[in-house]
Amino acid sequence: MADKRDYYEVLGVSRGATDDELKKAYRKLAKKYHPDTNPGNKDAEAKFKEASEAYAILSDADKRRQYDQFGHSAFEAGGPGAGGFDFSGMDMGDIFGDIFGDIFGGGRSRRANNGPMQGANLRTAVRISFEEAVFGTEKELDLNLKDECSSCHGNGSKNGTSIETCNKCGGKGQVVYTQQSLFGMVRNVQTCPDCRGTGKKIKERCTDCRGEGYITSRKKIKVVIPAGIDNGQSVRIRGKGEPGINGGPRGDLLVAVEVSRHPIFQRQDYDIFSTAPISYATAVLGGDIRISTVDGDVIYNVKPGTQTDTKVRLRDKGVPSLRNKNIRGNHYVTLVVQVPTSLNSEQKELLRKFDEAMTGKKSSNDNASDKDKGRKKFWK
Ligand SMILES: [Zn+2]
Ligand SMILES: [Zn+2]
Repeated sequence: MADKRDYYEVLGVSRGATDDELKKAYRKLAKKYHPDTNPGNKDAEAKFKEASEAYAILSDADKRRQYDQFGHSAFEAGGPGAGGFDFSGMDMGDIFGDIFGDIFGGGRSRRANNGPMQGANLRTAVRISFEEAVFGTEKELDLNLKDECSSCHGNGSKNGTSIETCNKCGGKGQVVYTQQSLFGMVRNVQTCPDCRGTGKKIKERCTDCRGEGYITSRKKIKVVIPAGIDNGQSVRIRGKGEPGINGGPRGDLLVAVEVSRHPIFQRQDYDIFSTAPISYATAVLGGDIRISTVDGDVIYNVKPGTQTDTKVRLRDKGVPSLRNKNIRGNHYVTLVVQVPTSLNSEQKELLRKFDEAMTGKKSSNDNASDKDKGRKKFWK
């Protein structure tokens, strides 16, 4: 994700560009760098992807606003927009359908529509504990996954029967509607309802998959969750999404991670926060206390004269960074001085003596004193 170019720069437009300007700029770049016009050219492919991503973000008002505010980090794991927005989870078909219909008119559009296409991404969620998020974990997911039907090799036709071109769309897989609107004529490109975008009509359906071309089965998928992941972020498993179309690669599986709350620890980014009780005597005299951390208990030496709500830092006891797990946040502990609520008479007497020693006069704290109960009347 490092060194990503600014999306506006990629498209060569100003930050105030209108939707129309964005579309025009993207259309120009897409035409120039499209893989169909540059077969085997990796550089063109990268440029095409870069421009497509920039256009996908900037042509969506919500995402454009997020990008303007946070930059690329809006769409990265751990970014401020961390609901884990994922570029590849977008329905690029919607965006491209419109534009490519225009770019590759006539014979070309047919190829563009019916060529190999990556399958859709699948989304699921997994719940993990606070500690699992800190140190990383592995989970096994139980999912319904589609696989190409082995009887018909995914084309949905019964062995040997012919496949014809769809009449409705003429094999393009898409139908175009023109509509009069307030803003003039609008072209709407939709996936053909008759052939569901394949451009083909099956004479006799494959009996194993009922013409669907794929078979759904329950599968166990292992997901490796990296140390440092936070609530709401996603892990991507390549090639475990929906099967590709016309021989295209499979989509990806996106696993959203939900982290359970911890009874003691709170987390903010890579830092952990907690409180630790200390006795009045420890606060005054100092001494060792035991503090729970995600690495186990540590002994901390409280300094004499520590006030309540003093914050101490346990260096590198926080959460490992997702990018480099050797870099860890800190653990901040708030020391809370405990005021005893039930003392026996001996303890009370000692405390009274202590108070007298501190102030130099007789203690007037008769509130709960048994032998002084009689005096109380004079105060009323
Ligand atoms: Zn089949
Ligand atoms: Zn059709």
